[in-house]
Amino acid sequence: MIGASLRFGALETIIDRQGVNGIKIPDAKISEYFGTNVFNDAAMREYLAEDVYEGVIESIDTGQKIDRDIADQVSSSMKAWALNKGATHYTHWFQPLTGATAEKHDSFFTPTSGGRAIENFNGNELVQQEPDASSFPSGGLRSTFEARGYTAWDPSSPAFIMEIGAGKTLCIPTIFVSYTGEALDYKAPLLKSLHLLDQTAVEVARYFDKNVKKVRATLGWEQEYFIVDEALYFSRPDLLMTGRTLFGSPPAKGQQLEDHYFGSIPERVYAFMLDYETEALKLGIPLSTRHNEVAPSQFEAAPYFEEANLSVDHNQLVMDLMDRVAKRHKLRLLLHEKPYAKINGSGKHNNWSIMTDTGKNLLSPGSTPKTNLQFLTFFVNTIKAVHDYSELLRASIASSGNDFRLGANEAPPAIISVYIGKVLEDILHELETRVTKKGFTEEEKIILKLDIHSKIPDLFLDNTDRNRTSPFAFTGNKFELRAVGSSANCSSAMIVLNTIVANQLKIFKEEVDELIKKGAKKDGAILKVLSECIKSSKSILFGGDNYSDDWVKEAKKRGLENIKDSPRALDAYITKKTKDLFRRTEIFTERELHARHNIRLDNYIKKLEIEAGMISEIATTQIIPVALKYQNELISNVNGLKTVGIKANDTKFQKDLIKKINNHVAQIDQQVKKMNKEVDNANKITDHRACAIAYCDKIKPYYDSIRTEIDALELVIDDSYWPLPKYRELLFVR
Ligand code: ADP
Ligand code: MG
Repeated sequence: MIGASLRFGALETIIDRQGVNGIKIPDAKISEYFGTNVFNDAAMREYLAEDVYEGVIESIDTGQKIDRDIADQVSSSMKAWALNKGATHYTHWFQPLTGATAEKHDSFFTPTSGGRAIENFNGNELVQQEPDASSFPSGGLRSTFEARGYTAWDPSSPAFIMEIGAGKTLCIPTIFVSYTGEALDYKAPLLKSLHLLDQTAVEVARYFDKNVKKVRATLGWEQEYFIVDEALYFSRPDLLMTGRTLFGSPPAKGQQLEDHYFGSIPERVYAFMLDYETEALKLGIPLSTRHNEVAPSQFEAAPYFEEANLSVDHNQLVMDLMDRVAKRHKLRLLLHEKPYAKINGSGKHNNWSIMTDTGKNLLSPGSTPKTNLQFLTFFVNTIKAVHDYSELLRASIASSGNDFRLGANEAPPAIISVYIGKVLEDILHELETRVTKKGFTEEEKIILKLDIHSKIPDLFLDNTDRNRTSPFAFTGNKFELRAVGSSANCSSAMIVLNTIVANQLKIFKEEVDELIKKGAKKDGAILKVLSECIKSSKSILFGGDNYSDDWVKEAKKRGLENIKDSPRALDAYITKKTKDLFRRTEIFTERELHARHNIRLDNYIKKLEIEAGMISEIATTQIIPVALKYQNELISNVNGLKTVGIKANDTKFQKDLIKKINNHVAQIDQQVKKMNKEVDNANKITDHRACAIAYCDKIKPYYDSIRTEIDALELVIDDSYWPLPKYRELLFVR
């Protein structure tokens, strides 16, 4: 029983669990405490002199550096605000390529002469810091002797106060760059890509409305996650170390009844939600939706959409908050893309659109022929961008965790395609075929525009018929990228999406202007270029079931890539095409791309190495010993039965079981040894890509074969011996 004592102890603990005391849900309307911990517009107006305020706003709008004078004044006002709120420390808050967020707290307090102290915070400290950065991944951009990295203030994402227990810290969102100016984080390139999209989209939007001065990308994410009780979590070394279960036979009841989806939220989880949501709302994160997801113990949170940079920061903050608050409730948050086999994994839908400073959503069909042409312009260019750079988009979402999910018949496949619905497909078809005849007469143009216009109302009806299987779906007034992993930083995908769309809009503009120069009228030129875009990118459109085998075959015929594993998908980061794109758009240098490629591969290798290590350890030190103990008991049983005169023939059942256990144990032992040998071989490979491929091709297959044996043992060994909490306990006990 020793091996299983942790498991049963955990179950008893849970039964005795009391609700968490001391959750502070404000006794007020949300609107009264929303954003109270943020140095937002209202706080800035209150604390900043008017000219300083104007200076900050201008720099946010133009993306230009704030001058030193203003920075000094902002820092002193920010300090006053933060001290008023009870903050004692400040930190630059940044997003290194580890995927988590990082912070290093410094105190405001500075000792002065005579044993006294004052609270200090100046412009220098606001604008730039030099954290000890040597242990953050740089992918070779820094050698340890020049390990310096700088964090620099991003005024477009407001500072906020993070409350942890009684502690309050002023957090200043920053980018993180190396001594030589290369990006070491997600934010720096994201900001660049947003700026680029702004510039190119404004140019195109001005075809339709001369008043447009700024275009912002918007992002609304939907975050899926699992919750598990802390005691069970601690009894599963695999969950603890890898974030997912490496073994476990699926329970008799999985998600087939679908009774969890949108069902009532379990009480303990509900308390957890209220708790972290309150903190999030105080941080100005506009959370609006919470519900159960398809799998048992799986949930989702979603906010109102925001400007993409802010929305990314808010997603990072929410992941962090959920993790911390869950612990307070003796629960654990699982953000892994596939914590449980044979049950849905978790993703993070990225709803993306572009919005003008005149308040127009450029991906929203309009009410006049002119605004519809504007809509079609941005719509078609986005499709064309995704078509031309689908491999890069695929690479942007690649991770070891997401590999378990993509294409597993519950998540979008690894094939990138675009769903737009029947009505829009018809409209695009019409646009394409009508134009190819021989350009347009004025009359034809008018008819076409009106024709398209007359179909737009049907769109809103068609929109209800959503295709949930598509990795990139148009959902009425935005595109929804569904292939992002639940633990990912949204930036990775958003950098790519912004850049490829910006790049395409630039090309589009050049082509249209060229036609205009040759004498074409503006609308005619736009329609003509759009029709060419449709022709060259329509192979990416797919409205059927993305989970079906037929689609895999069809996609192959169309020449669409289906790259199932990360090490190969990541190749798209360093192709000539990608390097050209990012060099042209000045988002990444070649060195930065190679660094990112290396870091992603390195991350993949490390994750798989840890998993292989845990499989080997759990199999050898927990599973096999328990199997042998139970086997011994069966052997004593057979021997004992002999002494009371029961014939050998009548103990066939026991002997078969002994043999069966023996076979499984022998298999496990053999496979683990082979796997470990492959691990040793792989670790000798110095080339990152080759090493990652070895892990993918040579080591990962053992995960399944070992698991099969262990899961089979789970079904024959005395339940009271089994050391690992079972799926039914992890998923249904709460
Ligand atoms: P679901 O995909 O679950 O059906 P909804 O269609 O209601 O959900 O929207 C999901 C997400 O889309 C929300 O997070 C919302 O903020 C976001 N969203 C809505 N409009 C936009 C937009 N213009 N830009 C970006 N995100 C948006
Ligand atoms: Mg969605």
